[in-house]
Amino acid sequence: MSGRTVGIVALQGGVREHVDLLAGMGVATTLLRRPEDLIGPDGLRVDAVVLPGGESSTIDRLLRLFGLGEPLGQAIASGLPALGTCAGLIQLSSGIADPAPGQGSLGVLDVTVHRNAFGRQVDSAEVTLPTAWGEARVAFIRAPSVESHGPGVEVIARYRDAVVGVVQGAIIGLAFHPELCGETLFHERLLRFV
Ligand code: GLN
Repeated sequence: MSGRTVGIVALQGGVREHVDLLAGMGVATTLLRRPEDLIGPDGLRVDAVVLPGGESSTIDRLLRLFGLGEPLGQAIASGLPALGTCAGLIQLSSGIADPAPGQGSLGVLDVTVHRNAFGRQVDSAEVTLPTAWGEARVAFIRAPSVESHGPGVEVIARYRDAVVGVVQGAIIGLAFHPELCGETLFHERLLRFV
């Protein structure tokens, strides 16, 4: 997996865990905050991107403040492989059923999400989850769910009857955190899209 660089959106939230997981896989990472971190004079500086978890309304606000949201959305829409975990899934979505006031999203993944879908019942849980790509050890932390999705979206995981993992082209959206459990399955899949 040498020679590939994964950009991690590093405005807020669980950035370090993705950097560490990818480092353990022998993959170079670079942090993305401003448009010039993503795009250089010769085009894109990264081969794939990760959108970490955190507080989605805060990340949304910072993406716009730093001017990164628009070029990032365009790059992903043009085929840059992307993996969003938890708040990162919310960022990728085309619709948020219950947004914070003024909250938007990149609109590149054809799903409508519901924030904090599992409520207090599952504020935080570490589980072994069956997925279309094999069993995965993952953590749910105030996780969203996918309420509805378009025809181009494939469901790869469900939890408590809710859709919690999807793929559409080279875009992977997860309601949970594999990176907190050292789970490399989804990051490996992301790299296969490169
Ligand atoms: N509940 C958070 C939100 O709506 C997401 C939580 C997470 O990323 N772990 O942004």
